[in-house]
Order: sequence, then C-alpha cells, then structure tokens
Amino acid sequence: MRQKIQGNDAFQRINYLYQISKAMASKNTILSSYYGNLVVNIAKKNVLKIHPEVKRQICKKCRSILIENVSTNMKIRNHNKSKRIEWKCNICGERKGLPAEKNKDHRVWVEKEEAVVEIIK
Ligand SMILES: [Zn+2]
Repeated sequence: MRQKIQGNDAFQRINYLYQISKAMASKNTILSSYYGNLVVNIAKKNVLKIHPEVKRQICKKCRSILIENVSTNMKIRNHNKSKRIEWKCNICGERKGLPAEKNKDHRVWVEKEEAVVEIIK
C-alpha cells in the first residue's frame, strides 16, 4: 500500500517536471534539459516506466524535451518503400530516427500535454 502511494507521488512529480521542462524548452534550454534529467532520474529511482511516446520526446543525449520547431525539427522521409521519421535535437545536435508506422499520426505525440507513466510490476 505504501509503495503504491509513493508510485503515485512520483507519477505526479514526473508529470509536473515534464510540464516545466516543456515550458522551458522555448525559453531556457539549460533548464529544460535540467528538468528533463530529473524526469528520467525520478522514473529510474522509483522504477517507473516512462510512456514510450514521452520517452521519445526526451533527447537521449542532453535530455531536453524535443518540441517541434522549438528544440527539434522533424522530417518524414521516404526510405525505400517505408517511411522514416527523423529529427534532430537543436540543443546538442543528437539525431534520432524511427520507422514510421502506417496509419498513425506521428505528430500527435509531439503535441501531447501529459507525460503518461506506467508502473513496472
Ligand atoms: Zn539533445
């Protein structure tokens, strides 16, 4: 029971810090990266799994939140017959790429307001 409460608490903190990090992305990239780091660290400490869509928004290298046209530029490229989404972190220059899934709007997650975390059982 006690652990469950702690999990919820961490969940709320992660959501809160994620919002700050996101808000800071256009104003202060150092702070954005700082809060992004806190999100990852709290999740690790509390054995929480950050939702994959949220995780994708955090730069692997500098842990800034990647917001389209603010801290990243996203491109959809045709790669042979399949499509690939590619983006680059404008803060540290780290590049990321993912195969695009058919019939899925990949822009949705970039605009998502909330960090959804799951508790690892
Ligand atoms: Zn980065």
